Amino acid sequence: MTMETQLRTQVVFHLAGARADPRRQDLPLPAGLRPALLAPYRDLAALRHDFPVLLCRGEGSVAQSLSSAVDAALRAVAPAGPPGESMRKRALQVEHHVRGRVMQGAAGPLRELWEHAVAELAPAAGGATFEREVASVYAALQADGELVGCDAALPGRFVRHAWAVEQHEKARLARGRIHRLVVRLDEILRADAARSPAAHAPDRLRAGFGDAHRGLFDFAAMSRLLHHAGPYAGLAPARRARIVAALDVLRSQRFYPGPDGAPDPADWVFDDTGAALDAFLARMPAMVQLHKTLLVAELEAEGQYVEALHDPIFVAIDETSLTAADLQFFPDFLVCTNSAAGANVALLEALSAGVPIKVVVQVADLLERSAAGLGRFAFGLREAHLAQAAMSLDNVFVLQTSASNLLQMREAVQRGLRHAGPSLFAVYAPPHAVVGLPGYLRAAAAMQSRAFPAWCHDPGAGTDLAGRFSLANNPQVGEDWPVESLRYAGPDLQAITERVAFTFVDFALCDRRYDAHFAVIPRAEWGPGQIPAAQWLANPPEDAASCVPYVLAVDDAGLLCRVVVHDALMRAALRCRESWRRLQELAGIRDSRVARALARERELRSLDAAAVSEQAPAPATEPAGSPPPVASAAVEAERDPAEPYVETLRCSTCNECTLAFPKIFAYNDDKQAFIRDARAATYRQLVEAAESCQVSVIHPGQPRDPAEPGLEELIERAKPFL
Ligand code: SF4
Repeated sequence: MTMETQLRTQVVFHLAGARADPRRQDLPLPAGLRPALLAPYRDLAALRHDFPVLLCRGEGSVAQSLSSAVDAALRAVAPAGPPGESMRKRALQVEHHVRGRVMQGAAGPLRELWEHAVAELAPAAGGATFEREVASVYAALQADGELVGCDAALPGRFVRHAWAVEQHEKARLARGRIHRLVVRLDEILRADAARSPAAHAPDRLRAGFGDAHRGLFDFAAMSRLLHHAGPYAGLAPARRARIVAALDVLRSQRFYPGPDGAPDPADWVFDDTGAALDAFLARMPAMVQLHKTLLVAELEAEGQYVEALHDPIFVAIDETSLTAADLQFFPDFLVCTNSAAGANVALLEALSAGVPIKVVVQVADLLERSAAGLGRFAFGLREAHLAQAAMSLDNVFVLQTSASNLLQMREAVQRGLRHAGPSLFAVYAPPHAVVGLPGYLRAAAAMQSRAFPAWCHDPGAGTDLAGRFSLANNPQVGEDWPVESLRYAGPDLQAITERVAFTFVDFALCDRRYDAHFAVIPRAEWGPGQIPAAQWLANPPEDAASCVPYVLAVDDAGLLCRVVVHDALMRAALRCRESWRRLQELAGIRDSRVARALARERELRSLDAAAVSEQAPAPATEPAGSPPPVASAAVEAERDPAEPYVETLRCSTCNECTLAFPKIFAYNDDKQAFIRDARAATYRQLVEAAESCQVSVIHPGQPRDPAEPGLEELIERAKPFL
């Protein structure tokens, strides 16, 4: 087949899909085909990464990765250098075994999985010595709890665990407050009883003395004496009734029962919003009663209750009076649910009503077809709309992330659970049923490809969007798609390094349900007219038949190929990019208003400069060889061309470099970036920062370390910024 015929066939596939080519009907893609950038993760169990995650019991972090727990234990017990080598190796063997089991679906207490791994490995790995060494590593583990993998159940488990930790702390504080009030009110009643005439009767006085001393006193005389000591006014009946009633309510409250007071998940965790709302409304009268009682008790404990002032206020307090801050005293209602059209409507209603529920929505599928049909992909629009609609409501905390990133977002999860108001956690976790890759990789690919970016809207973090909204944790937030270097062997086995973007289309290639939207171009058929998908997306061709977009992929045998992409997926990728750009704008990146203002400012400056140069007298001609003006020479002398620098005054405060490389870049008092520590930077980081700066004000200088890998390529990339 000629090149032209091949391209024509590929164009037909790109535009019309498999249906147009009967030879391609149901043609399977090569086994294990995946985006080329994911090739290094073929054996994920062998790589130390964030999973499995340990849901920690006790004090300290709510969760941590098994790897970090093992590292900390090894630092504590393994001797430095060669003497500790065998202990390190053996502990990592156990960790690897545990990770493998969790990836196959096991979950449970760390102790159980660790012991199982030791039992399996010990016979072949050194018997008693092995067991002794790994036992001392286990003993040094500072964390304990359940180990969980990155699977479909993770979002619910993770948030529920963090919720339980928060409720424990809440219960501790609430019970402390209740206990202090009960003791104080009890003291008031007992002191009053001790001063009453009944307490001074001879029999009561006699009963208050021990047997050994009873014979020494005349209790009748003592009673007469005490009786004449002064008039007894006692507690006013209304005050006594208030205190007794308050004690009754405080002692019988059911929100924090039991010895440790932790609320029972069976009463507070729901799987649909409607049931949580019903429970909230049903418990509201008891909440109002306890809330009022706490206030009354505090006033009485301090002797500050004034009937004329406080009685009408407490009569007026009802269900509408409780603010979000008041409701924070009570356990939180937690809803763990899946996303579904009807459920989302009910959920938004509950959030907009300000009901302080915490909701985790588990998103299982981002590539569902749109309800409108026409072969269009909705790519998580429903969930994106849900999260973004929730953000527009008053005082709602919203966190969107993929399951692979949950551990990194644990502090944000805790902030959301502590938020005084409703919170929504939308988490993408792919089910096993539709995977072509491990859950962790698919979830990470969703975030990497912008199909499901991570973002957080925290109303408590500031008064404006700049303070509240964050895109932290997404790779290369200033770009449409993150770009990585891919090294592979060329036709003559020479090493080739290519910059490859990871796009929405790469994410779709991870899902075997969409194989029909891809067609492999074997290496022998690579040729003109095939362009990388990112290039196509940056500038879709006017003549759709002039070229075909492809992504680079590898199969199980490690063979590299190009994969032509069906037009429907490319259109979905364009919509995905637009959605990502909207998020960028919310985060102040590529802000179209700022860009327009900058352009206007530049235009005005150039007009001013032109006007000045027209009015200025022509400069005297310098004699040949004369030195440059002193001022500009001084500026040049100040700057070493080898040193990296930022044109701080031109920084548009997009957060890109400061978020991506916080050790290298920081903001000054005017919130404009400068290099805080050039020595903390590799040349690669400086070049990547320069490439991602939208206003091109980062200059990477020259490499400091001549041994840094890939320097030749980096120097080439740095040229436009020198
Ligand atoms: S230097 Fe560039 S990348 Fe960094 S904050 Fe300023 S504009 Fe953004």
